[in-house]
Amino acid sequence: MRPVALIHAGAGGRSREIEERQHEYRSALLTTLAKARAILESRGSAVDAVQAAVMFMEDEVDFFNAGRGSALCADGSVEMSAALMRGSDRQAGAVARVTRTRYPIAGARAVLDGPHVLLVGDAADHHAAAAGAEQRDPAYFTTERQQHRLATEPSRFERGTVGAVCLDVDGLLVAGTSTGGMRGQLAGRIGDSPQIGAGTWADENVAVSCTGDGEAFIRTGAARQLAAFVAGGTPVENAANGVLREVAALGAVGGLIALDARGNTALPFVAEAMPRGLWRGGSEPEVWA
Ligand code: ASP
Repeated sequence: MRPVALIHAGAGGRSREIEERQHEYRSALLTTLAKARAILESRGSAVDAVQAAVMFMEDEVDFFNAGRGSALCADGSVEMSAALMRGSDRQAGAVARVTRTRYPIAGARAVLDGPHVLLVGDAADHHAAAAGAEQRDPAYFTTERQQHRLATEPSRFERGTVGAVCLDVDGLLVAGTSTGGMRGQLAGRIGDSPQIGAGTWADENVAVSCTGDGEAFIRTGAARQLAAFVAGGTPVENAANGVLREVAALGAVGGLIALDARGNTALPFVAEAMPRGLWRGGSEPEVWA
């Protein structure tokens, strides 16, 4: 099986900052792909590849809305969420409203093989810590850049949620998504990213990670619906476009990445932009910023 890695860095408006720092931005996307590639090329698992790619983006402060540098809630707090799902057995792990776990996707990984699917708040942080996931003081996640944005454009859609889907040499499909949510959201709001079937999904046929107005992805059951289309024989690209049409019909902006068991990909978006990248075993990585 030829391994594949697909990543996204959030659907939304074009940002002047990213236009001005194109070179750095593209290089961050290429490094993200390289993290997944290194694992997949050495016959590693798609679970590890997705986690490594997402962790790199969570650690990148300026460009992505995940981990440190996440968008701020209306009260100035940072509440992060992440999910990870393994297609072969549909085991899923997710965390929401974490405030201390340095890499929220590692918090999701700590839930993946246990009896639960989604842990919330302090309990999710404690669970992650007990599994060895690095913890930081909540202040660590707040950046001046995001404080300035909240002060000047309090409810503007924040681009930069991150996601990855991978297929490994054994044919395993895995999806992961991580976010700080929407800038100016009410503290306590949980979007689609950590909700299995809404923003994140993987089964034996397809792996999906979504981004955009989370409420619309929840209300359309977007990721799970895409998988149902694929299971029924619809090509992944048509399935992805069909789901996004429903999201757009609710007046929402968004995008997604989807990868099927044969390595077919879809990366559609209904937004000004959705930075994304693709690597296939035996080929050079490609990124679109
Ligand atoms: N979907 C995320 C949320 O609703 C935000 C995003 O993708 O930008 O929290």
